[in-house]
Amino acid sequence: MSIQLNAPAHARMPKDKEPAVYAVKHRDPEVRNASRSGGVFTAVSDNILLHGGVVYGCILKDNDLAEHIRAETTEERDRMRGSKYIQSDMGDVFPQIRRDLESGRKVLFSGTSCQAAGLKSYLGRDYPNFFCVDIVCHGVPSPAVWKEYLKWQSEKGKSEISSVDFRNKRDFGWAEHIETIWLKNGKRVDSTVFKNLFYSHRILRPACYKCPYKDVMHPGDITIADYWGIDAAAPGFNDNRGVSLVLVNNAVGRALFAEIADKIESIPTKIESSMQIPLIEPYPAPKDREKFWSDYRKRNFGYIAKKYGGAGIAATSRKLLSKIPKRLIRILRGEN
Ligand SMILES: Cc1cc2nc3c(=O)[nH]c(=O)nc-3n(C[C@H](O)[C@H](O)[C@H](O)COP(=O)(O)OP(=O)(O)OC[C@H]3O[C@@H](n4cnc5c(N)ncnc54)[C@H](O)[C@@H]3O)c2cc1C
Ligand code: SF4
Repeated sequence: MSIQLNAPAHARMPKDKEPAVYAVKHRDPEVRNASRSGGVFTAVSDNILLHGGVVYGCILKDNDLAEHIRAETTEERDRMRGSKYIQSDMGDVFPQIRRDLESGRKVLFSGTSCQAAGLKSYLGRDYPNFFCVDIVCHGVPSPAVWKEYLKWQSEKGKSEISSVDFRNKRDFGWAEHIETIWLKNGKRVDSTVFKNLFYSHRILRPACYKCPYKDVMHPGDITIADYWGIDAAAPGFNDNRGVSLVLVNNAVGRALFAEIADKIESIPTKIESSMQIPLIEPYPAPKDREKFWSDYRKRNFGYIAKKYGGAGIAATSRKLLSKIPKRLIRILRGEN
């Protein structure tokens, strides 16, 4: 296979004005099941590992902490699959990445656009062995709220938490957004309380309300997202097991994308039929954000879950909601 992966730094310039856009599904259904959308991150990171490189990305530690780690094996990398809807702790990965780059290893970084831009600024120059995938980002919720939420679920279920899934695609399909918490006593909770807090935008980090990366062009060589609007953009491609929106932003991204061609099914699409709010503008801070945080500091989590997270909504309202098309509800709520 040709070595475009070693494209020189100048190949990144001049910058493209618009990305090339694709709908993508990994050919292996198990990879898609384990991934948030179409599994394109696995295809790209497999390629880097195959070439002796290292992959940096976000894992969930002890169920309540998202952090970036370094992976040299597919087993370590697999922990990066799936969206963790809380801010990731970067620890000391930036200096680790510089050391790997200086030693000549290929490095793939994956994370939010602000993390990717921050890393590039820290590195201070282009490296021919550096590759970057960023995610289209709704905003990141506070990790402290997630921790309190898990404590609340644990107390209610009278058991420690065994494992969690921020968005349980295996049981509910790609389009649905339900978090599942498995308890050590064998019980399981399917809930939308944390999702509701997330999409109310009250628990996003303050920087997210002024995010400068809400554009069709991103800091990554390749940008990945859930392909909302897929049925209009590529009719017949969606099977509700996950389709990735892939934005190829520059020459390095094009080379990387060409390298994974045999691992994926892809259809070129148009940017106009792929738009979602996080590609246009940041969500504004809700008017009652201060009130929320004041309540959060003073009250117990049960109160917060009920007042702001929709806990305890009568089954009848849920029944009524279930009759309205899900896609329409998501659009009205500003969800992804
Ligand atoms: C906080 C957050 C907000 C998101 N907002 C949107 C959105 O507005 N619109 C949309 O279409 N999709 C959004 N996504 C989903 C994102 O598009 C998918 O993660 C992406 O499509 C990857 O899908 P995949 O199937 O290739 O990979 P997967 O294998 O599931 O990829 C996971 C990738 O996400 C990274 N990642 C996971 N959690 C975090 C985190 N907390 N911080 C940084 N990186 C993380 C991993 O490093 C890895 O690269 C969001 C994800 C997160 C984590
Ligand atoms: S919304 Fe913007 S600032 Fe917030 S985490 Fe995402 S990329 Fe970073």
